[in-house]
Amino acid sequence: MAKGCQHTLKKEVKVAGIGLHTGEKVYMTIKPAPQDFGICFKRIDDGKEAIIPATYSNVCFTQLCTTIGIQTSEGMKTVSTIEHLMAALFGLGVDNALIEIHGPEVPSMDGSAAPFYSIMKKAGLRPQNSPRKFLKIKKRVAISIDDKEISIEPANHFLVDFEIDFDHSLIEKQRFISKINSKCFERHIARARTFGFLHEVEYLRKNGFARGGSLENAVVIGENGVLNGDGLRFPDEFVRHKVLDLIGDLYLLGYRILGKVVSKKSGHTLHNALTHELIAQKDAWELVEAHGKWPIPGIFVPSIKEKVEMPHPIPSPA
Ligand SMILES: [Zn+2]
Repeated sequence: MAKGCQHTLKKEVKVAGIGLHTGEKVYMTIKPAPQDFGICFKRIDDGKEAIIPATYSNVCFTQLCTTIGIQTSEGMKTVSTIEHLMAALFGLGVDNALIEIHGPEVPSMDGSAAPFYSIMKKAGLRPQNSPRKFLKIKKRVAISIDDKEISIEPANHFLVDFEIDFDHSLIEKQRFISKINSKCFERHIARARTFGFLHEVEYLRKNGFARGGSLENAVVIGENGVLNGDGLRFPDEFVRHKVLDLIGDLYLLGYRILGKVVSKKSGHTLHNALTHELIAQKDAWELVEAHGKWPIPGIFVPSIKEKVEMPHPIPSPA
């Protein structure tokens, strides 16, 4: 296996399910893609095909989920709720993939990243010739909105320190601190499900969200506890899911990160704001290539070889 190289899937995988917010059945095929292609979605449901690169600059909507879109001659083409799939791609170590989708929303599966992760893991990864590139953080960048804040600072690995604080006895304060690599993602993060409060469900449905939401694909919190019959997958499943969302949202930078992210109560809006702020501050990051032995495809970075000169950290589709 090539050293420190990019990876794609060995073969395509097909996924079908219900969109959490639209409630519509969606079919999706995750296909291998060439090196330096990045992650791109392709809407193929309505005649004219549209390729939507999964990059932070294409994010057009961050209420409840992350939606990317591009303007076409046919109007705006979007794909919603991409964050759990993006996190699974990141966690497994997939650098390049083309995701063909027959609809406007990624299927919600069980509300976590685990179904995507396991089906892609089963398909296997293929190493590619190009070295994997990393966004190395050189300077702290912070951003806040009201009582929510997030920052990113230099570190030799990808580290996350996430804290949530909900006014509900079941959640209250939860904090998750870890180096994020493939093993950590698979064991501690991938299975954490999205969650919502029962009293919010009616409001969401009225506003066109959560139409496909059920106890099959979300943890629903009532006044006295979790409504799901089999309870929680982790005692702190809520903060773990927030970490999952963060990983998926930050993978829209187009590269893995060498840096530490500290978050207090952040969500999709703040995650996207941080990516814009980070890239705008050109002295806050540099693009580097990894080298060294890679026993398992994943995120661990033994050392950094050299700085790579690139005008912009986002790959364009081939
Ligand atoms: Zn989520």
